[in-house]
Amino acid sequence: MNLILLGAPASGKGTQSIKIIKEFGFLHISTGDIIRSNINNQTEFGIKVKKISESGKLVPDSLIINMVSEHLKNLKSGNLIWDGFPRTIFQAESLDVILKKNNSKIDLVINFDVLETKIIERVVNRRICTKCGESYNLISNKPKTNGKCNLDNADLYIRKDDTLEKIKVRLEQYKTSTMPLINYYKKSGKLIKIDANENEETIWTKVKGLLNGNY
Ligand code: AMP
Repeated sequence: MNLILLGAPASGKGTQSIKIIKEFGFLHISTGDIIRSNINNQTEFGIKVKKISESGKLVPDSLIINMVSEHLKNLKSGNLIWDGFPRTIFQAESLDVILKKNNSKIDLVINFDVLETKIIERVVNRRICTKCGESYNLISNKPKTNGKCNLDNADLYIRKDDTLEKIKVRLEQYKTSTMPLINYYKKSGKLIKIDANENEETIWTKVKGLLNGNY
């Protein structure tokens, strides 16, 4: 199964991905995570995309599609969550082609619908564990010890693009390049919208219901 999680930055795609992986054993393709790992490891690709990615703008389609194709080569087969990809119509069309070559297709697209005010509140209060990637919110989901992960006590960090200035750029990119995908997948009858303004457990109940076929 190929499941796309569509939504603005901080709409909960990453958090729900972790829950889906734990409950249903999907494999996770997060293009944002792959890019950040390349930047941290100072790979040739990471060095090339660091500036543009950390500015909040989208990395050019050709580079992203190449990166995804390479990543797929090293992935064992299984159900896939696509998190943060596709983000443009061109990427969506390319993904259709890539999947078709592998006798596969998109099965379900969940669109996480969140208010802009909520997104900004989530982004500026987001803290992430340097070790396990667990995400916290300083208002709604505080770590027990300030600056430390509840799960492994590792330090928490702030993403370079989680600033008020950068989230404005990211939202603009989302509106112009990614929002058209809502119609793209609506037309194919694969899109289901969920209200993602609520807390992560309420959203999880809905996502789990969808994946259990109760929709
Ligand atoms: P994310 O972690 O999904 O919010 O992605 C972080 C950043 O990585 C984005 O702001 C982009 O600069 C870049 N990025 C991630 N996925 C894509 C994509 N599918 N297309 C273009 N840029 C991407």
